Amino acid sequence: MGWGIYVHIPFCRRKCFYCDFPSYAGREDAMERYAHALCCEIEIAAQGITCPPPWGREIIADGGGGRTLLPSGRGKASTVYVGGGTPTALPQPLLTGILHTLKEKMPIREDAEWTVEVNPGTVDRAYLEGLFSCGVTRLSFGVQSFSDTLLRRIGRIHTAQQAREALRLARDAGFRNLSLDLIYGLPGQTLRDLRESVAEAAALGAEHISIYGLQLEEGTVFARQQEQGRLELPDEELADAMYGYITEELPRLGYLRYEISNFAKPGYESRHNLGYWQDVPYLGLGAAAHSYWQGERRANPAALDAYMEAVESGTRPAALEEPATREIRMEEFCFLALRTAKGIEKEAFREKFGCTMKSIYQDGIARMKEKGLLAEENGYLHLTALGMKYGNWVFGEFLL
Ligand code: SF4
Repeated sequence: MGWGIYVHIPFCRRKCFYCDFPSYAGREDAMERYAHALCCEIEIAAQGITCPPPWGREIIADGGGGRTLLPSGRGKASTVYVGGGTPTALPQPLLTGILHTLKEKMPIREDAEWTVEVNPGTVDRAYLEGLFSCGVTRLSFGVQSFSDTLLRRIGRIHTAQQAREALRLARDAGFRNLSLDLIYGLPGQTLRDLRESVAEAAALGAEHISIYGLQLEEGTVFARQQEQGRLELPDEELADAMYGYITEELPRLGYLRYEISNFAKPGYESRHNLGYWQDVPYLGLGAAAHSYWQGERRANPAALDAYMEAVESGTRPAALEEPATREIRMEEFCFLALRTAKGIEKEAFREKFGCTMKSIYQDGIARMKEKGLLAEENGYLHLTALGMKYGNWVFGEFLL
């Protein structure tokens, strides 16, 4: 696996009631200017990349369940992920213009995975065909539920029927790798609602399903409703039953759990997201995007206007973040890798930090193994099924 490119599109038609992602509703006026600024940033960033890159190391899957670390300098970007916000809230020519600029300016492999996030309420046949002919290989649909009542209750702009139709149109357009996001633990959601949504996602043939438990985030409509005592969430018992259902049913339907919240048919794991969890460098472009590059972390301005002004003034918008201490880097490395079913490759930890995991985490690992939350296999330390459920306890043991 080479490195990744993330592109952030910070626009949505309307803010969903649970969402605190950096995105703006009602800023159609800024879309053209933003797309132009983004293309300028792509050009600026591309000039700073020597290809093959002289930095760091590159991780290459060896196809045998393990991986091989090779000196870098071999590769171009192997994944591009356009997320948001709602990339497809942009008029199609603006989005395809951004994709073409990436292709033209950035060193990207021929066989790269190109993902675009799609809101089913924003696309039609022509839009999806346009993305396919631009070389997009994978679409990630934010569906969240197939219940119209729930979709209205959480502020989505689309109906269940629009989601079905969008997936069908994507197939017709030629896409063979479709992902679908669902949420459980929604206000008023029953186990039956969830069952129906999971069954429908599978029946539509999605190759990949991400399923997240609802989190109440500050500043959202749901957080306000909660404060006012107006939000009725499933109780602990029901939330537990939902979690149990998801983790049993999806594997039964052929979706392997390769990360805490992600399930895929074999071979359809998100290569881009695997990169985040496996310490692979990435370049973030667009407002609020983060980069992890040559061991440094950078962040672009989150505010739309601040981002556009920075790029228009010809400066690189990505500000260097304070370098993380060695301890923090160790913690992050472990937290991210532990999210995956494979877990932490102990040898990769030793290579990166020059010491064994045992020398740092011996007691914590022993405690978690004793409780049945962690296990070790073929040089990897990974969460057990129980550990995936109580991940936060385990992560606590990796804090230094
Ligand atoms: S469409 Fe996605 S990014 Fe936009 S408000 Fe809804 S959940 Fe957030």
